[in-house]
Amino acid sequence: MRVLVTGGAGFIGSAFVRLLLEKKPGDELVVFDKLTYAGRLESLKGLKRKIELVKGDVASKADLGKVGKVDLVFNFAAESHVDNSVSTPEPFVKSNCLGVFNLLEFARKNDLEKFVQVSTDEVYGSTKKGSFTEESQLNPSSPYSATKASGDLLCHAYHKTYGLPVVVTRSSNNYGPRQFPEKLIPRMIVNALRNKPLPVHGTGEYVRDWTYVLDNCEAIELVSRKGAPGEVYNIASNDERSNIEVVKFILEELKKPESLIDFVANRPGQDYRYSLDSGKARGLGWAPKVSFEDGLRQTVEWYRTNEWWWKPLKEKMSPIRWLSGDGQQQHN
Ligand code: NAD
Repeated sequence: MRVLVTGGAGFIGSAFVRLLLEKKPGDELVVFDKLTYAGRLESLKGLKRKIELVKGDVASKADLGKVGKVDLVFNFAAESHVDNSVSTPEPFVKSNCLGVFNLLEFARKNDLEKFVQVSTDEVYGSTKKGSFTEESQLNPSSPYSATKASGDLLCHAYHKTYGLPVVVTRSSNNYGPRQFPEKLIPRMIVNALRNKPLPVHGTGEYVRDWTYVLDNCEAIELVSRKGAPGEVYNIASNDERSNIEVVKFILEELKKPESLIDFVANRPGQDYRYSLDSGKARGLGWAPKVSFEDGLRQTVEWYRTNEWWWKPLKEKMSPIRWLSGDGQQQHN
């Protein structure tokens, strides 16, 4: 089987490539990636087998034309950082809406076994109580989540209209090795390692449901085999933590003082809490294997021992990625 993984040089995509190489030794793997600031060949270093790498943009039909025939598509390619979507939304529309449209058109020309669209819990918006099911209303708050919801809706329409075997996974926040240090957990770890202030939005009261990246990858792989075409599957470990709890855990692991915490302004449209009912994915036989404490310990250890991976990023980082949504410069 020839498998296309778009966004395979990113955080979750590169973890997924590693998982597929192990699980499906007979498959041919094609990674298609624009190699934006978040896509890094370093994240594909040391793979156990050869993969084919195509540098290209999902927003370009011509680039997708370079891929050739495939049997299975996993779409991880996306602009993924909410703060960037607040300051510069256009690339999000191109990659997350037009990109999904082009991929679905590409899929129509291939006789696919499945098209797996990797989406997010953020499409449901925020809730103070209870958990969202796959039937819950889409209610995105940021340009990022609105473009992801649009991609999901296109997938739904292509299943209904053209019978394309599309499944959508919506996962909660992921964490683990090789995540770009603009996101909460790696940013806090990297700043703590450098004894720099740890910028925490508001009072750190926001709640996220953290899923270890490999658990999400396992779920995505399972859904590609057992998921019913046209269906959506929520994926979450159902282990909710406030941001301040996460930050304090990291500081404790690294034996750094809490005085490094720096409370900064909230970004506009900040969601208070995300929460998913993941019963449908669990019904297919999925269950998370990594507890939050173990996963976070492993993640902290990975960043501590893999400075080669993140240090050049910190040095090259453009200041815009370190702005809060209200334009206030944050410490890094
Ligand atoms: P990431 O930003 O680390 O990686 C995105 C990858 O996509 C990068 O390799 C980038 O170069 C590539 N890319 C971006 N635009 C592209 C384009 N136009 N054409 C081709 N490649 C392009 O993101 P991630 O955290 O690995 O997220 C992967 C997917 O999972 C995204 O679709 C995201 O919405 C979704 N998701 C992420 C999380 C999370 O917590 N990280 C949670 C739920 C869902």
